[in-house]
Amino acid sequence: MSTTATDRPKLLRPAPGCFVRQEVDNIAWLDMGDYLLVVDALEQTALEAEVMESIAATTGGKPVGVVINTHTHHDHVALNDAFQRRFGAQVVNAQTHVIPPAGLVWTADERRVEAHALPGCHTDGDLIVWLPRERLLFTGDIFGWGLIPWDHGLDRPRLDHIVATYERLAALEPTTVVPGHGPLCTVAELRRWITYVRALHTDVRQLCHEDAIDRRTLDTSMLVPPEDMRDWWRFVQWKHGDCVAKIVHAVSRGRL
Ligand SMILES: [Zn+2]
Repeated sequence: MSTTATDRPKLLRPAPGCFVRQEVDNIAWLDMGDYLLVVDALEQTALEAEVMESIAATTGGKPVGVVINTHTHHDHVALNDAFQRRFGAQVVNAQTHVIPPAGLVWTADERRVEAHALPGCHTDGDLIVWLPRERLLFTGDIFGWGLIPWDHGLDRPRLDHIVATYERLAALEPTTVVPGHGPLCTVAELRRWITYVRALHTDVRQLCHEDAIDRRTLDTSMLVPPEDMRDWWRFVQWKHGDCVAKIVHAVSRGRL
C-alpha cells in the first residue's frame, strides 16, 4: 500500500499530557507525573530513535514506566524491548498479565488510566485503554476504520459479540477514539460502524436469498460503500470490500 499524505507521522495531543504519534501504526504516551505510560509499540524497530526523541521532546525526558500492548500482534510490540532496555519499563498485555474483571488501573494526581480486557473482537487477548477524565479511548485494532476486526471466520455469535463490544465502547461516550492504526475519531464512528455492519448483513442476506450474488465470482458490485463513509481511512480502497467478502462468505455457508 503506498503512503499517502494522511499516512505521514503526525504528533497529536488529544488531551493535556497525552500524545499520539499517528501514522499507519499509532503509538501514544501519557504523562503520569513521575513517569510515562505508553500505549502500543509499533511495528518497526527502526523507529526507536525517532520515537524516543519525540517522547523526550514532549515530556522533558521522563522515563517510560509502563508499556501497554492492546494486543501482541507484531505491529504493536516492536519497541517493547527498547522501552525495557532504556527504562526497565513494565510490559503489560493479555499474555503478561491476568486482567481482573475491574481492569488494571494506574493513577496520578490528574489522571486515571484503565486497561480492560475485551477479548474476541480482533484477538483472544484484546485490551482497551480508557482515560475516564479525558474521555480518551484506545481501541487497539477492535476499531479499524470500517474493518470487521475478526479474521478467523465469522458466524452469528462472533458478529453479535463484536457489535455488543462496540456498543459497550460507545456507551463510554469517548470524546476521542485512538485506533491502533490511522486517524483519530470520535464515538460517532463507533456508532456508525454498528449501523453499517448491521445494514450490510441485512443486505447480503437479502441478496443471497434472491440468489442475486454470484457466490463463485463474489460479484458484490451492488453493495457499494455508504456515501457518508467514503472518506473513512482506506475504507473505499479495500476495507468495505473486505467486510462484504467476510459477510458473503459466512451468509452463503449458513453461518450468519
Ligand atoms: Zn492486530
